[in-house]
Amino acid sequence: MKNKILPVPFADSSALGNIFPAIPDQFGAAKLSAQLQFESTQWWQPEKLHTSQFDQLNNVMKHAWQEVPFYKGRFQAAGINPETTKIDQNIFSKIPLLTRQEIQAAGDSMIAKTIPKEHGGRHKIQTSGSTGRAVQFQGTQMVTFFWQSFTLRDHLWHKRDLGGKLAAIRWAGENEGLYPGKSRENWGTAAEHAYQTGPAYFLHIKTETSKQVEWLLNIQPQYLLTFPSQLSVLADNFNYSDSKLENLKGLIAVGETVSDELRVKCRNLWGLEINDCYTCEEVGYIALQCPEHNHYHIQSENVFVEVVNDKDEPCKPGETGRVLVTSLNNFATPIIRYELGDYAEVGEPCPCGRGLPVLKKIKGRSRNRLALPGGGHTFPYFGNQEEYLAITTAIRQYQIIQESLQDIEVKLVVAEDITVKQENDLKQLLNKHLGFDFNIRITYLEQIPKGPTGKYEEFISRII
Ligand SMILES: [Zn+2]
Repeated sequence: MKNKILPVPFADSSALGNIFPAIPDQFGAAKLSAQLQFESTQWWQPEKLHTSQFDQLNNVMKHAWQEVPFYKGRFQAAGINPETTKIDQNIFSKIPLLTRQEIQAAGDSMIAKTIPKEHGGRHKIQTSGSTGRAVQFQGTQMVTFFWQSFTLRDHLWHKRDLGGKLAAIRWAGENEGLYPGKSRENWGTAAEHAYQTGPAYFLHIKTETSKQVEWLLNIQPQYLLTFPSQLSVLADNFNYSDSKLENLKGLIAVGETVSDELRVKCRNLWGLEINDCYTCEEVGYIALQCPEHNHYHIQSENVFVEVVNDKDEPCKPGETGRVLVTSLNNFATPIIRYELGDYAEVGEPCPCGRGLPVLKKIKGRSRNRLALPGGGHTFPYFGNQEEYLAITTAIRQYQIIQESLQDIEVKLVVAEDITVKQENDLKQLLNKHLGFDFNIRITYLEQIPKGPTGKYEEFISRII
């Protein structure tokens, strides 16, 4: 990014004698400019947001038409010419949904021949993909800028004390941040140049849980960021121990769906609410948790989100459907009506007053749905923790696999042996909640295997 406005680089205003008020450099100024606009746009009514999104979408589609062979063909086939037609919701709905397989097959024809120079340099993005082959495409400095801007918005929405310590336990490549982890003097690029922050600590999620606990006790962070499944394991560990995270003020969940059960568990143990965010590598931030409620606001300045039913029609509040995303700022590999594979429930407008549309729940992927013996699918509910604790306190981890329309395997990690009666009670309780008389088989493991990037799924169906 070239300095076009300021006569001198205000990289560090303290070096120039200004510590109050401090003046950010051009990177910080750009970030604060985005936050200033977000502060206003979040309160816009849905119609105004929608109009502005479509103004931006028209730019993206014109660019895609001119520069991206894949989209030229796709738009032509749908009878759409963005150069001569103003795209509205009606016309937009005629564009076929984009699948992961199509991106894989399209290869370089998805990549823009040129991009506006203001978007900065390009870089490769490779999505990990919980299953199947990786997808490769490109981002720009503009894409990165927006990624960071929404991370910063999340910090500001949840009024985090940026001077505190942030501890993150997650995946970052095969061997990065292995025990004893690594640290940096600030929270990273999202806040950098705009705010001074406290230190951040990182540990690889594949570290043994007891070592994670030791690491956290040593750091005593104000904020803990990790996958919900790991948060659950850590919460259980602290629940059974006298050691405490004395300074903990906030929990940040990433990468997996957050259950109501986990929210209750963390509330009971730490008196804290989980702040969840919904992101994907393809378009960045999709939704952030409302600062006042447990549901999510779509980040409409970054992405146009549709939730559609089996007929590809928009879902109404209370309905669950497939999530389609359209990036408003990636000009290197435009992502238009991409079917992520996730399901979400549409929410009513939020009482907080923000006009950003609401997702009530992020529900997971196709394979996380239970196939019902009588036909159809549902996201299963297994009951609450107390019901299981009433049968046994030995369960440390579990995973439920639907093998067929009649058969379910329950994998358990236990601290002590479970009796036959307890097994039978567990099966009965599970079937009560699932609403069917499944043949349930319980197996015991040392640990539950995780996905390729350390993610864990509570329920997987083999018959999608
Ligand atoms: Zn809200």
